[in-house]
Amino acid sequence: MKIAFIGLGNMGGGMAANLVKAGHKVNAFDLSSDALTRAKENGCATFTSVREAVDGVDAVVSMLPNGKIVASVFENDVLGHAPKGAVLLDCSTIDVDTARHVTTDAVAAGYDMIDAPVSGGIAAANNGTLTFMVGGTDSAFGRAEPILSAMGKAVIHAGASGAGQAAKICNNMLLGASMIATCETFAMAEKLGLDLQTFYDISSKASGQNWSMTSYCPVPGVGPTSPADNDYHGGFATALMLKDLKLAMEAARSVNADVPMGARATELYETFDAAGKGGLDFSAIIQSLKD
Ligand code: NAD
Repeated sequence: MKIAFIGLGNMGGGMAANLVKAGHKVNAFDLSSDALTRAKENGCATFTSVREAVDGVDAVVSMLPNGKIVASVFENDVLGHAPKGAVLLDCSTIDVDTARHVTTDAVAAGYDMIDAPVSGGIAAANNGTLTFMVGGTDSAFGRAEPILSAMGKAVIHAGASGAGQAAKICNNMLLGASMIATCETFAMAEKLGLDLQTFYDISSKASGQNWSMTSYCPVPGVGPTSPADNDYHGGFATALMLKDLKLAMEAARSVNADVPMGARATELYETFDAAGKGGLDFSAIIQSLKD
């Protein structure tokens, strides 16, 4: 297939490269010339505008920073410029309302569109092992699935338009809250004089077990290798966790959901980010809970 790829940053760069490896012709566009240089090295054809990149393609994939940019790219430069009938896949993490709104406009203009945010970071994007959670009609999902499969290990249809974004922010709100609960627990265990490896051995086999502890332990030297073992570099940045928590709070307000743990996690990550720690992995918040 001929696929336009818009937004080839940390995540999109590797994803587009995997589409090329799967045999697709990829037309790349990004505002950053560095991103385009890397895309060219990875076998993409590069373009100087979205409109040129989407000309004559079968599909358009985007991986952009936020909902405002996604809406502007699709409304101004994709709809009416990509061939009618092309399938549109937005893989960015954005708010549910914008995802639904852009899809409604795309369908009205004659396109199939899905929201397909990802779980997994830069390494998963490079290795083609992302998990996609997809919102859209059955027929749009059927058309998008083979394209997403070339970039991921799992592609799950979450429901109608917007359901992919809803699943993503619900999952990440749970992750943010469970990471903080894990961090404060280890900080307290240390103050109570427990050996942290011994506490891990106990809790990972007891009812406190959770992913933030057993797959991504925030304590250096305890559990499997994680960003904690690399001075909290690499992994999932605090700033990105905060972005997802803010989207979760926005969604909670829109449906009047009571989310006290998610709200507190958002406040704690806001404080940590404001202290200049936004670039550190989100498990680094254990530092502020120990101090
Ligand atoms: P990034 O900032 O590295 O990449 C975004 C790219 O979009 C940049 O190269 C930028 O130049 C480009 N861009 C911005 N505006 C544009 C426009 N109008 N037209 C064309 N290109 C434009 O960000 P990223 O880390 O790759 O994240 C992309 C998306 O993936 C975000 O929505 C993020 O929340 C989500 N995400 C990121 C991670 C992660 O670990 N980085 C994990 C899961 C989901």
